[in-house]
Amino acid sequence: MSRDYTRRDVLEIGARAVAMAGLGGFGTLLAVKAHAGDAWWIDPDKCINSRLGTAGAETCQSCATECVLTLSAIRAVNEFSKCGRCYVCPAYFDIHSAAGPDGLPSKKLCPRDAIERLPIGWIDPEDPANNFYEYVIDEALCNGCGLCVMGCKEPAGLGSVRLEVNHDVCLDCNRCSISTACPEDAYARLST
Ligand code: SF4
Ligand code: SF4
Ligand code: SF4
Repeated sequence: MSRDYTRRDVLEIGARAVAMAGLGGFGTLLAVKAHAGDAWWIDPDKCINSRLGTAGAETCQSCATECVLTLSAIRAVNEFSKCGRCYVCPAYFDIHSAAGPDGLPSKKLCPRDAIERLPIGWIDPEDPANNFYEYVIDEALCNGCGLCVMGCKEPAGLGSVRLEVNHDVCLDCNRCSISTACPEDAYARLST
């Protein structure tokens, strides 16, 4: 069942979004939209790709394929405050691919190579597992396919990656075609 969001819900969600580190402009934009009028929002507790407890489920790609825009308005975002900055990130690497000469999985998970792996601080060559990395998603490349979101779910990841509507490009269609296709009723239209 869809939930009707009140102005209070919108403002609370907007405030939370603004407070989140690593969301680029999305959090601020969501808050601005929330004040200015209606905006579509994805509930991470309902999205099959991010919802915990759905291990083994197939990745849902409807966010990438159903948007009216050629490059979907949906993007993956990494909430850095939750990210473990893992040496072997299951959202970045295809952890089922064979190990390369460096011992890391030889393939990346993202089909659009939209995730950057940036070392944080000094790198210990003796103990690779002692090193930490920042995983940054390029919103110009990401199409919201959800593969990395599914990969980051516990227990392999910490669930720090989720899908969000990029309000920079979303047309705010009155009837979002993704919301119609979404198998989990994860889309809500926030009204002020
Ligand atoms: S949602 Fe898909 S395209 Fe975007 S970063 Fe994740 S795997 Fe890559
Ligand atoms: S409202 Fe329209 S432009 Fe925005 S995500 Fe949905 S289909 Fe795409
Ligand atoms: S269509 Fe719904 S379940 Fe599928 S990825 Fe988008 S929000 Fe998640």
